[in-house]
Amino acid sequence: LGRSPGEPEFQQAVREVLESLGRVIAKHPHYLEHALIERICEPERQIIFRVPWVDDQGSVQINRGFRVQFNSALGPYKGGIRFHPSVNLGIIKFLGFEQTFKNALTGMPIGGGKGGSDFDPRGRSDGEIMRFCQSFMIELHRHIGEYIDVPAGDIGVGGREIGYMFGCYKRLTNRYEAGVLTGKALFYGGSRARTEATGYGNTYFVRAMLATRGLSFEDKTVVVSGSGNVATYSVEKVQSFGGKVVAVSDSSGYVVDEDGIDLALLKEVKQIRHGRIADYVALKGETHGALFVKSGEGSIWDIPCDVAMPSATQNELTGKDAKTLVANGVVAVGEGANMPCTPEAIRIFEHAGVMFGPGKAANAGGVATSALEMQQNASRDSWTFDKTEARLSEIMRAIHDTCASTAEEYGAPGNYVLGANIAGFVRVAEAMRALGVI
Ligand code: NDP
Repeated sequence: LGRSPGEPEFQQAVREVLESLGRVIAKHPHYLEHALIERICEPERQIIFRVPWVDDQGSVQINRGFRVQFNSALGPYKGGIRFHPSVNLGIIKFLGFEQTFKNALTGMPIGGGKGGSDFDPRGRSDGEIMRFCQSFMIELHRHIGEYIDVPAGDIGVGGREIGYMFGCYKRLTNRYEAGVLTGKALFYGGSRARTEATGYGNTYFVRAMLATRGLSFEDKTVVVSGSGNVATYSVEKVQSFGGKVVAVSDSSGYVVDEDGIDLALLKEVKQIRHGRIADYVALKGETHGALFVKSGEGSIWDIPCDVAMPSATQNELTGKDAKTLVANGVVAVGEGANMPCTPEAIRIFEHAGVMFGPGKAANAGGVATSALEMQQNASRDSWTFDKTEARLSEIMRAIHDTCASTAEEYGAPGNYVLGANIAGFVRVAEAMRALGVI
């Protein structure tokens, strides 16, 4: 960790994994040989580059681009690209490190990587977004490929951005290499159910956790933070399983709707109007039971619920929030986002006996479906929605069962954090041992 000063999120992610490894090392001390643990914590390659672009006023803007190719023992690097002003090297390293174990947990042949830029897409015109994506790809294209590194979307990068990046890659390389990016639109090589996969997958994971105690989503009250890709499709799936989602948020605040979030209205506000979450209340009308609370004037986690699904960003659910949730009787938490709960919050959930699905397991449905997209691209095939969702549901069930059985094997039944960290680590470590010191 001393090698990564000033990277608190990366240190937090590494510490969490290392803390889980004591039991596996005690049983299998050979994992201490050949500096395997030190190698697993060090990215194979980190690329940092200048991204110059011209805004609508004709001024030149400069952003910084990153791609951290963390570990390729199991397959080509795979992980999303994030456009958000908070992006820096430490954030991308933490995400790439988590991604390595998450991808291993899916059981699919994909290594771990992550990328992004401190570019803020909010308020930018379509032309500005396109020029930025093209400039970003002018550098990135040298480092990616179907057998090298396959980026996807993340915060601030959806189907539109992937399209602009793919178009630029195609022109620069003169190759129609569909498998170089995932999260593409259906008509040029995308997979059905990829858009929905992370939110759906987290919901499947939580459903499997609830089932271990004879519970289900039926009549449960659920709070989902965020209102982007992961949050929206979590709301959709929870509702289809009979749960009632009463709150969603964005960085400006949160909305409570005691009638249950109106999914069509949420999609209208976020996907069609690209508005703020307060618009939900404005459109529904305050007299109809919906209320907007501004950021800083309360926490979405103050709302009593049975299930919490943090799906916005890292460290958004603190120890204080966890205490409130426990006091209000929460029974399960599924991390839709990457590392949304602070270490203190996780400890509080563990001590209170709350079922806790860590992001690297619970939100792995997105990358798993990206791997299914790669599979379809490689075989020039396109599966139906039902077939793809059925595969996603099987994969999430398998991830849940692997985490649960690993936790049990290592003497901590019900501890999905330990189960996910150990199962992910063992798969990557075995591949690294087989490949030698390289
Ligand atoms: P989106 O950009 O679609 O949505 C992000 C949502 O979170 C928005 O509502 C946004 O609000 C909110 N948000 C982002 N940053 C902050 C912040 N600093 N404070 C408060 N709210 C914030 O992203 P996704 O839904 O794709 O990603 C959400 C999380 O899920 C991330 O942690 C991502 O890494 C993780 N994830 C995503 C996967 C995917 O397939 N998309 C796969 C696995 C994990 P606002 O619009 O106001 O910024």
